[in-house]
Amino acid sequence: MNYNVNEKGYYGEFGGAFIPEMLYPNVEELRQNYLKVMAEPSFQEEFNQLLKDYVGRPSPLYFAKRLSEKYNTKIYLKREDLNHTGAHKINNTIGQILMAKRLGKTRIIAETGAGQHGVATATVCALMGLECIVYMGEVDIARQAPNVARMKMLGASVVPAKSGSRTLKDATNEAIRDWINNPVNTHYIIGSAIGPHPYPDMVTRFQSVISEEIKWQLKEHEGRENPDYVVACIGGGSNAAGTYYHFLHEKDVNIIAVEAAGHGVDSGESAATSVLGKEGVIHGCKTLLMQTKDGQITEPYSISAGLDYPGVGPMHAHLCKTGRAEFMAITDDDAMNAGLELCKLEGIIPAIESSHALAIFEQKSFKPDDIVVVSLSGRGDKDLQNYIDYFGF
Ligand SMILES: *Cc1c(COP(=O)(O)O)cnc(C)c1O
Repeated sequence: MNYNVNEKGYYGEFGGAFIPEMLYPNVEELRQNYLKVMAEPSFQEEFNQLLKDYVGRPSPLYFAKRLSEKYNTKIYLKREDLNHTGAHKINNTIGQILMAKRLGKTRIIAETGAGQHGVATATVCALMGLECIVYMGEVDIARQAPNVARMKMLGASVVPAKSGSRTLKDATNEAIRDWINNPVNTHYIIGSAIGPHPYPDMVTRFQSVISEEIKWQLKEHEGRENPDYVVACIGGGSNAAGTYYHFLHEKDVNIIAVEAAGHGVDSGESAATSVLGKEGVIHGCKTLLMQTKDGQITEPYSISAGLDYPGVGPMHAHLCKTGRAEFMAITDDDAMNAGLELCKLEGIIPAIESSHALAIFEQKSFKPDDIVVVSLSGRGDKDLQNYIDYFGF
């Protein structure tokens, strides 16, 4: 079984590029060039240098001793929370801004929901001195004032999307419209392992530095490269794709994908796509998608802004369908408690997204000598108000 993208841009039956005709030249230019550009030694060199000196990589692989004792297994945390800007998203935006520069683009656009991807994009645009326009739903702009302020401080223009539900999908539509109108000088930085081919594969490759590092770091700690389990939360699926990448074809490594169950998978307020999703097209690719009987996208819900997405990337749809990955759904309550537990046991305040991945230890038991590597995708600073509201500190 192949779990990587094939020549046509598919993972099994998922993926592809379902785009309006007018967008074809933009996506095609990227498709024809992305692998070539990424293979250039000068690209590699600049990417690796920035990951090291600007992002702060390699991120540590930390043996969580007290957490391991509690669950009677060996738990390692991959510390993406220690990256510049506080999460894994910067790995992708660094890669894409270098790609944009190599393709001669001078203007960057992005869509953002909670604002995390907008901030990561505005950051690299400031770094490279490129114009940055971030589309964001009007409702989200009101809800996410600190991230809007961050983007503005970093020099980006934040443009409100005023149509529809005035949230992420409307921002995405505006970004696509912009790209159609500015095909020559503009690159669209998509923020997860989603979108039309080649985006899911390109984003996965940029994020694959996570599993590349895990291999040599685990070798240092344990004398072997492969853990027994790799675990990551899934919104669109970019931190997960990066965490799994170098283990996809290693049969002795089990893969666990953690989705947000919100108030419960059957509550009508959830984002558990692997359980509730059906095949459909979202953001230019065929994948699993939460939708009504007549194909309208269902509004997802999770306490975590980063997991509040109605689909999963096509690679994950394939991992789900083939059974290569085990999918688990974690409720808001279980995630919040797991997040607080990490604070108390390890002195680390995790992003609520990452807390979902940590919550699996209450649901599933592991053997004492199992090595379980969990992607700690981000830090909890951005979620402080949510933690305060939930626990009443
Ligand atoms: C955005 C985000 C996620 C979800 O995005 P993926 O593309 O699924 O990785 C997870 N964790 C954190 C901290 C995030 O900011």
